[in-house]
Amino acid sequence: MIRCTKCILPVNFPSIKFDGNGVCNYCKSYRGLEQQEDLKSQYRKKFESLIKKNTEPYTLSPAPHYDVLMAYSGGKDSTYTLDIFKNTYGLNILAVTFDHGFLSPFAKENIQTVCDKFGIDHITFKPRFDMLKKIFTASINDNFYSKKTIERASTICSSCMGLVKFITLKLAIEKNTPFIGYGWSPGQAPIQSSVMKINGDFIRSSQKSFYNPLYKIAGEDIKPYFLDESDFKKLDRDIYNIHPIAFLEYNEESIYQRIQELGWKQPQDTDANSTNCLLNSFANQVHINKYGFHPYAFEIAGLVRSGVISREEGIEKIESPQNENIIKHVKSKLCV
Ligand SMILES: [Zn+2]
Repeated sequence: MIRCTKCILPVNFPSIKFDGNGVCNYCKSYRGLEQQEDLKSQYRKKFESLIKKNTEPYTLSPAPHYDVLMAYSGGKDSTYTLDIFKNTYGLNILAVTFDHGFLSPFAKENIQTVCDKFGIDHITFKPRFDMLKKIFTASINDNFYSKKTIERASTICSSCMGLVKFITLKLAIEKNTPFIGYGWSPGQAPIQSSVMKINGDFIRSSQKSFYNPLYKIAGEDIKPYFLDESDFKKLDRDIYNIHPIAFLEYNEESIYQRIQELGWKQPQDTDANSTNCLLNSFANQVHINKYGFHPYAFEIAGLVRSGVISREEGIEKIESPQNENIIKHVKSKLCV
């Protein structure tokens, strides 16, 4: 497999171009570590001033019980993000876990351990599995999102994340929380989106791109997971999506060390790119068979480019085989 000589993006990645030295267009447009540090500090300050403005004292009426609604998968990065909200910023957190029927038992235990340790409230949202099954099986054969989405994630992952985002947003509106927290790694989302004000028009168009294809698959059953007009009416206040890992230091070794101090244990049943999801191996395999490249290639390339992991470690992550037993388990549960 021919790959970019700087990151790990392969020659069959959809929008890739190489220069004479085998360096890809993404590496060429990367602005370098120094500019990245400036950007990080800019966004960190932005978030810190928003905390002051939004929580001391509350400008919202009635004052919310929680400062941040955290989308908590129980994985490494979201656990670390929870720690940042709790211990770096001292925020009141409501954690919400989306259980798609394939949450690793290790992740469930980690979620319980960490929420108990921090003394935070936690909700599990588990949609009916017959509906999820329809969506996941349809996502095996078709990509019904924009072409660009297949560069960033498998269609199965995109379907799942669409539900996570809108269920979380709906809950944040209901709970009147000013911030929604995500644990995106530096490869998953750019610094520029780490402190983002949510705007009604943007949400409407983004919701459409998930709602319309999923409605075709599962019909009226998907309605409870998306915003309705009464939710949009309540969007007249500011809500911010925050993924703080983007503007703070990201070092995998120290993240593992810190979360293990909290009692988090490395799952023994997930693949090399997930620390909570059993569906991931299968989703990766489907994507590789269909498009010829790993759905985590873009994310891992971002981690390599920003120096979080070495190129060799990156290649190892995307070339490691999927767990066959887990894939069997997923196939039998989805009846495929
Ligand atoms: Zn590259």
